[in-house]
Amino acid sequence: MRAAAIIPAAGIGTRMRTSRPKQFLMLEEKPIIIHTLRKFCAHGQIQRVIVPIREADSAGLVVWLEREKLDGRVTLVMGGEHRQDSVYNGFKEVPVETQVVIVHDAVRPFVDHASIQAVMEEAAKSGCAILAVPCVDTLKQIEMNQVVATLPRERIVLVQTPQAFQYALLKEGFERALADGFYGTDESILVERLGHPVKVLRGQEHNIKITKPTDLPLAEFYAGQGKM
Ligand code: C5P
Repeated sequence: MRAAAIIPAAGIGTRMRTSRPKQFLMLEEKPIIIHTLRKFCAHGQIQRVIVPIREADSAGLVVWLEREKLDGRVTLVMGGEHRQDSVYNGFKEVPVETQVVIVHDAVRPFVDHASIQAVMEEAAKSGCAILAVPCVDTLKQIEMNQVVATLPRERIVLVQTPQAFQYALLKEGFERALADGFYGTDESILVERLGHPVKVLRGQEHNIKITKPTDLPLAEFYAGQGKM
């Protein structure tokens, strides 16, 4: 299989309330993004690893890529205003002969090889595959701090990355979104909008997105448990 990975890392991390974007915070003596990139660079079927990043952050990342001997494997591109713009910038660098494109958040360093493999294989077969975990909390839809509905949580899942796509399907999804001025918070919505089915595979609970201040101690705990 010919595959490429896009790892968006151009967010500014306002929810973390630190001066550094969360993907550059240190975990086990390395920036979080380095742990993430190692997983994709080590995968034998992924020929290209593309990282959309803000200009201000790129010099610092290049130093780490050289130190970790990943510089020959990773291509940096300009990030965009929204996550979707960043991923699209990365997509433009993907060779057209690529069969499967994988998108994964830079801030999810606990992704494992089996999950990457599972979404890649399912996407190669059916077009698009994502990972998700069940929802344990009760979900309420609100308006102006008032409940308007209670959602059936047994029919709801919490979606993670990696998400994988056949190249042509993701291309069509991006082009349709661009034409409609549509922005989503993940890439699988772009395929949903085309009316194409999105296959859901069971994710790992520890594949967390390091976003809020309370996520860092949890990430340190998982790292200590050998989940990295
Ligand atoms: O904003 P969100 O939580 O969806 O961010 C997920 C990933 O997307 C992060 O790794 C972040 O760096 C990246 N991102 C990006 N460009 C943006 C916003 C977010 O690459 N403009």
